[in-house]
Amino acid sequence: MQYDCVIVGGGIAGLQAAVQLGRYRHRVLVIDAGHGRWSLCQGYHNVLGWPDGVSGQTLRDLGRMQAAELGVAFAADEVVEATAVGDQFRVLCQSGSLYPAKTLLFATGIVDRIPILPVVRECLGISVYVCPDCDGYEVTERRTVVIGAGKVGANMALTLTYWTDDIVYINHEMTDLDADVRAQFNQRSIEIIASPVTRIDQTNGRIQSVVLQNGRMVRAERGFVAFGGNTVNSQVARQLGVTLHTNRHILVHPRTKMTNVPNVWAAGDVVAHSEQVTVAMGEGAQAAIWIHKRLLGEA
Ligand SMILES: Cc1cc2nc3c(=O)[nH]c(=O)nc-3n(C[C@H](O)[C@H](O)[C@H](O)COP(=O)(O)OP(=O)(O)OC[C@H]3O[C@@H](n4cnc5c(N)ncnc54)[C@H](O)[C@@H]3O)c2cc1C
Repeated sequence: MQYDCVIVGGGIAGLQAAVQLGRYRHRVLVIDAGHGRWSLCQGYHNVLGWPDGVSGQTLRDLGRMQAAELGVAFAADEVVEATAVGDQFRVLCQSGSLYPAKTLLFATGIVDRIPILPVVRECLGISVYVCPDCDGYEVTERRTVVIGAGKVGANMALTLTYWTDDIVYINHEMTDLDADVRAQFNQRSIEIIASPVTRIDQTNGRIQSVVLQNGRMVRAERGFVAFGGNTVNSQVARQLGVTLHTNRHILVHPRTKMTNVPNVWAAGDVVAHSEQVTVAMGEGAQAAIWIHKRLLGEA
């Protein structure tokens, strides 16, 4: 079957687009590898209507159900190649499945580099966070450990001083820090500890303390991780000639969310902007509206 739109990535942005396109009754396929940022966060607290937080898994399950009821099809697979054939596209998956499409939407997101993921996973979104714009509020006047690498982690610690003065920076990768960064820490009386983390003690996702390789135990009420070096999942879009920002995020038209390649759109964290759920949803919906216009021959 030829699809009106193949959406690559079934996270927040892809599912919001799928719901919108489903309501136009287009033939839509969502191909999803199933391990996005939504799968890591157990509590989004800055989303309208969910004051007590909602997990990425819940939003995704609800989104898939809503889209499926509108006739959207799903494939659990990973897209490895996309090619243009005339004015259409072919999308090749890891499994060997090939899907033809009139339009494409890349909603492939990013992959966080969190070297301590196995020890911190249970706390993510409950008491340990990644994004100060999303969750800086959660550390207000709380004792907070920032676990990270070199300057990236240091900058996170300094950013969080907007909300709390009680911060310890654990330089897990023991990367060198410039003298001027150290001076800023001294000025604010923030301790820097250069030692890998070996364990996090937690109860129901609530961090209690961090145990370090050097034998120290650091008490904590909240945590942030900041290692830098995240991967942007833009490599398949790039095969089609899509223009990327220098940081490998996809560049799109601000109004339509279409890339420089006609009939190829992008939405969500893979695009260059603030990496947030509501932004991903907004972009998914906006892209879908313009995909619809294009399918009608209006745009
Ligand atoms: C720990 C954590 C906490 C967070 N907390 C907050 C918060 O409190 N508030 C907030 O607003 N935001 C928060 N975020 C950010 C939020 O999760 C993202 O902004 C949101 O998930 C972006 O949605 P997306 O659809 O662009 O990407 P994702 O949700 O990552 O979905 C992308 C999907 O694309 C799939 N995919 C990728 N490549 C391919 C491929 N080649 N083929 C098929 N499928 C593919 C992936 O498997 C994934 O399912 C947090 C993120 C993390 C990691």
